Parts: sequence; C-alpha cells; structure tokens
Amino acid sequence: MKLHITILPGDGVGPEVTGEAVRVLRTVLDLYGYDASFEEHPIGGVAIRQFGVPLPEATVRACMNSQAVLLGAVGGPEFDSLPAGQKPESGLLALRQALGGYANLRPAIAYGAIAECSPVRPEIIKGTDILIVRELLGGIYFGEPRGISDGPVSAAHNTMRYSVPEIERVARVAFYQAQKRHRKVTSVDKANVLETSQLWRQTVARVGGDYPEVKLEHVYVDACAMRLITHPGSFDVIVTENLFGDILSDEVAVISGSLGMLASATIGGKVDLYEPVHGSAPDIAGRGVANPLGAIASAAMLLRHSAGLEQGARDIEDAIREVLDAGHRTADLSPQHSNSGRAGDSQRGRAKRVVSTAEMGALVESAVGDVTDRRRAYHAV
Ligand code: NAD
Repeated sequence: MKLHITILPGDGVGPEVTGEAVRVLRTVLDLYGYDASFEEHPIGGVAIRQFGVPLPEATVRACMNSQAVLLGAVGGPEFDSLPAGQKPESGLLALRQALGGYANLRPAIAYGAIAECSPVRPEIIKGTDILIVRELLGGIYFGEPRGISDGPVSAAHNTMRYSVPEIERVARVAFYQAQKRHRKVTSVDKANVLETSQLWRQTVARVGGDYPEVKLEHVYVDACAMRLITHPGSFDVIVTENLFGDILSDEVAVISGSLGMLASATIGGKVDLYEPVHGSAPDIAGRGVANPLGAIASAAMLLRHSAGLEQGARDIEDAIREVLDAGHRTADLSPQHSNSGRAGDSQRGRAKRVVSTAEMGALVESAVGDVTDRRRAYHAV
C-alpha cells in the first residue's frame, strides 16, 4: 500500500516531538512493507515568519492531497500580540475546518509504570484504557443564534443544536471503535434537562441496535464526571457531544500523568488529522527535554485509522509501554515533576533514567523492533 503523509511540525516543541514520531512511523511502515512518503510544510508561527500567514495555501493543498496529516503544535509568546485571526492558533483552527473531521478521538490510558505521576491513586486508575469520541462540529460551539446584547441589562446567549445525522455519524464511529476494543459504549448526555440530549440518547440507542455485540449504557454528564475519577476502569468507549467531550476529555487526561503523554485523532472529514494534545510548550522548547510519547502515540493512531495497520499501531503502543516499564522517563515524568504528591512511592522498584526527547524516540523505535521480532518468532513456533 502507498501512503502519503503530510507533516506539520509547527512551533516550539512541535518539531522536536514530530521528529521522533516520524522516526517511529518510518520504522513501522518499513517493517510492514508499506511504501510511504512524507512531505513537510509550515503552519503556525513558523509560517507567519516565512509567508506572513499562519496557514499558507500550499500547506492546505499538501494536506488535502495526502492520506493523513501529523501535526506538532503551534503558537508562541512572540505572536501573542497579533489580532486573533492572524495568530498561529488561527491557522490550526482553519486547517481543522478545511479537513472537516467531525469525530475527535482522545485515548486516556493509565500506564502502570507511571501511575504515580497521576494525582489519582494508582489502585483506582490501574488498567484504565478509555477512548473518548467527541462530536466536534456541532452543538453549542457552533449553534446559531449566538451573541451578546447590550440593553438596559446586558445578556448573552448561545444555542445548542444537534441534528439526527450529526449524532448518527459520530455514534457509528464510537460503536465501530468499541467493536475492536472491549465492546462497550457509554453515551454521555444530559437528557434529564436538555432536548438536544434527548435526541442524542434516542439516536445513539437506535444506532446501537446495529451493533448488538456492543453493550450500550447511557450516563448523565455530571455522573460521568464523577465516575471518571472514582471508577475510570469501568469505561471502554465514551461518546458524547462537543462541549461535554471537551471537558471530560481534559478531566480524564489526568490519569495519564502528563500532558506530554496524550494523543489525539480527528477523523471523518476529507483527510484525518493526528496531533498530540499539548501545545508548543515555549518554556521547554529547544532544550530536547519534551516528551515525544503523545506525538508517537498519535502516529500509532494514524496507522490504525488512516493506514488500516492495526497491528503496527499496537506494536507502537506496546513499545511505549515497554520503554516506560524499563524505567525510561522524560523530565515531565520524573519524580521532581510528579504532581501526585507521591513522588517517594514512584522510586520504588526499577531504577529510573531521565532521557532526552531524541533518546526517548530512539528507545521506542528500538522497542518496536523487539516487539515485532518477538511476535513474529512466537507465530513462527
Ligand atoms: P502547553 O501545552 O504548550 O504547555 C503547558 C505545560 O505543559 C508547560 O509547562 C509545558 O512545558 C508542558 N508540556 C507541554 N507539552 C509537553 C511535552 N510534550 N513534554 C513535556 N512537557 C510538556 O500549553 P500552554 O503553555 O498553555 O501554551 C503554549 C502555546 O501553545 C500557546 O501559544 C498556546 O496557544 C499553544 N497551544 C497550542 C496547541 C496546539 O497546537 N494544539 C494546544 C494548546 C496550546
């Protein structure tokens, strides 16, 4: 199979982490005999410096002509004074709009080896592996009418609106993903108060009828927010509307222990987009200390969703786990950074070694080779 991927490294730590993600991606694609080509283009601050705009036309064209886009991050303090529409972040928003993805996938995985980095107790998050599927193009963020009216008493209003097709298509993404995971979908809404949620619940239930092997439950968003912290291991795939998904995906991210660990995919549009959740991290940019695992895990998602290479994606995910199990940590995962208040616990057991961004990439690359060799040897017996 031939795969053409556009790489948008962007600003700050973006080029550092995407460099490592591409290194791992190339290795896996080679291992599986894929014919892949990569084309790099500017976006964000780097594009403003070169071309005066955050999203050059040539970048959009390249993205549209590829099977997948892998992005680093955009933004930086030197652009903060620009008007909103000219900032680096506006380039990313315009790109997302052009690509048109309606389903945002955010995995939240508690890796056992770094469980102590999470503020939630290790015994609570143990084994947690959740995929949040967030509807991205509808709901209150886009609904009209909206505005602020100035009168004797100022008031503001927004509109939450959903149509059946908008709900159906994202529900199908969730059920399809659940089929390949632990066959459970939790649909999150506020159907006791909101009409949009009542339509959401009815529609998801009807779509669920097409996936009888997948267990469906409906949970109110307030109850879900609590359960994500008290019993995160009770979820497999969560599907929810735009605003709820925005909040819940950030809430559950704390179980992963660091912003640098988080991956994402935006699928369903003309071309799918993969990016780590973090920003350009100007405070650590250029020092080679950023955690590339979120970007590398985003590359794994690219293999799964855009290349149909499920085993390759799993190889990367297993390799990440092995590297962490072996005690390798970027600085954000080191005990000094631990936000759990349990830094002392974290040093029990294996020795830990703080590694650079490039070392972490190389370790994952090498672990991918080991993982595939072992699996092939096992199947050869
Ligand atoms: P940020 O995500 O860049 O950084 C927040 C904190 O997390 C910082 O302390 C940073 O050092 C740390 N961090 C982030 N990524 C890390 C990594 N891979 N490894 C280790 N530590 C990491 O958020 P911010 O500081 O609020 O924003 C900085 C810039 O990034 C701003 O210009 C903002 O607009 C932009 N931003 C871009 C995106 C994006 O491109 N998707 C997302 C969020 C913020």
